[in-house]
Amino acid sequence: MGLLLKIILFGVAVYAVWKTFSRWKGLFDRFVGKPDEPARPAPPPPAPPADPVATRRTVAIEDTVQCAGCGAYVPSSAEKCVQCGRPLPRPQS
Ligand SMILES: [Zn+2]
Repeated sequence: MGLLLKIILFGVAVYAVWKTFSRWKGLFDRFVGKPDEPARPAPPPPAPPADPVATRRTVAIEDTVQCAGCGAYVPSSAEKCVQCGRPLPRPQS
């Protein structure tokens, strides 16, 4: 009986102390100000990885050259045209 009452009173006292402490802490923070909390910007999200499909498409377009003889698109890495056999102009001479 007495022990239970003491426990309840103890809990109420702890609760009251905690509420008072949090209220005073809130007042203190409001008056003093927290210098680094509101002005701190959120870190930028990490850049999304490059789209592999788009990258591959761009590389494919850049690596394709049109043959001057027959107009066929052949990869620039090829030595000569795959259709007419005309030697391709090398971009890096
Ligand atoms: Zn050709």
